[in-house]
Amino acid sequence: MLSDNCIFCKIIKGEIPSAKVYEDEKMFVFKDIEPKAKVHLLAIAKDHFKLFSDMDDNRSETVKYMLTKIPQIAKDNGCENGYRLIVNQGEDAGQTVFHLHFHILGGENLPW
Ligand code: AMP
Ligand code: ZN
Repeated sequence: MLSDNCIFCKIIKGEIPSAKVYEDEKMFVFKDIEPKAKVHLLAIAKDHFKLFSDMDDNRSETVKYMLTKIPQIAKDNGCENGYRLIVNQGEDAGQTVFHLHFHILGGENLPW
C-alpha cells in the first residue's frame, strides 16, 4: 500500500519525476538525486513502510524479492565490479526519507 504524503510513494506513482532504471510489480529503482558515488541508486518497494525495523513476515517476503533482484540491476547499471548496499535505519543513521530504501553505491572504487 502506498502513502499520500511520502515522497518515494509519489515517485512510484509518477507524481514526482525520477530517473527510473528499473520497475516491476513489486519494486522501483531510480537514481539518487544527490549521488554519493559515481553510481547511486535507490531501490524501494511498492509498499510504504517507514523503517527497516517495521519488518514483518509479509514485508520480509518483499525485501527478499528485492534482494534477489538487486544484483542484476546493479550489474546492468555500472556496478559490474561491485557495489555497497546500505540501509539507513532511523535517526542515528541519518535516515531522511521514511520509506524503506536500499542505497546501491558503486561505479568506482569506494572509500570505506
Ligand atoms: P536516507 O538518508 O537513507 O533516508 O536517504 C534518502 C536519499 O533520498 C538521499 O540520498 C537523498 O539524496 C535521496 N532523495 C531525496 N529526494 C529524492 C528525489 N526526489 N529523487 C531522488 N532521490 C532523492
Ligand atoms: Zn512511501
